[in-house]
Amino acid sequence: MSKQRAKLVVGNWKMHGRLAENATLLQAVAQGAGELPADVRVGVCVPCPYLGQTQSLLEGSKVVWGVQDVSAFTHGAYTGEVAAQMAVDFAATLAIVGHSERRAYHRESSELVAVKTQRALEVGLTPIVCVGETLEEREAGSTEQVVGAQLDEVLAKLSAEDAARIVVAYEPVWAIGTGKSATSDEAQAVHAFLRSRLAAKGAAVADVPVLYGGSVKPENAEELFREPDIDGGLIGGASLKDQDFLAICRAAAATSVAG
Ligand code: PEP
Repeated sequence: MSKQRAKLVVGNWKMHGRLAENATLLQAVAQGAGELPADVRVGVCVPCPYLGQTQSLLEGSKVVWGVQDVSAFTHGAYTGEVAAQMAVDFAATLAIVGHSERRAYHRESSELVAVKTQRALEVGLTPIVCVGETLEEREAGSTEQVVGAQLDEVLAKLSAEDAARIVVAYEPVWAIGTGKSATSDEAQAVHAFLRSRLAAKGAAVADVPVLYGGSVKPENAEELFREPDIDGGLIGGASLKDQDFLAICRAAAATSVAG
């Protein structure tokens, strides 16, 4: 039995942005988001050097902010790493962990992603735990096995109470930045599967938001967000264009509880 949950739309800027263009983008997003219904939540995950700028421009707005990764360590001699607590110092509330680009280019294992999830939770950040299969894995029929194992590894390290505080993002690797989104039926099937794994961890965990990510744009957002187990989106490329990102947020509003 599906249940309507509030929608969440989060931008993942990746390694994009400069001070001047960020200011324009953040101000436009803050203003546009202010017109959305209360049950649509909006966030942006920015490169760490821009956290201060983001905080000063978004504070007092409807939009929350966060980082795209956290260190598995709390502090110490880990050159180049950013601790979860450092993001909190800039009033961040979100942390993406386990993005497929980090799994692929930085060889992050699901075990490491689980530790990073714990680090985020310990300091009060909401981890957005990314899972997703490659095209090869999908074609081999192992999507559920792959995303199930990625999620289970994280859930295994968390109490049910902590697990209820995460967000999951299903991001098929073949759909990220390619312009080729999963169809709403394909995405819904995986989301329903992930929801069943979450539910196995406890009743409260079953209601964890499960976002879809992978070439979401204004043209396909509403169809995706209408699916019963798609609670919003993690948006890459389209989050860098204020009008596109806001159109996606409005699609979330059109499909939200109040919409
Ligand atoms: C992402 O990288 O999280 C993502 C979903 O990218 P895009 O929307 O550009 O496919």
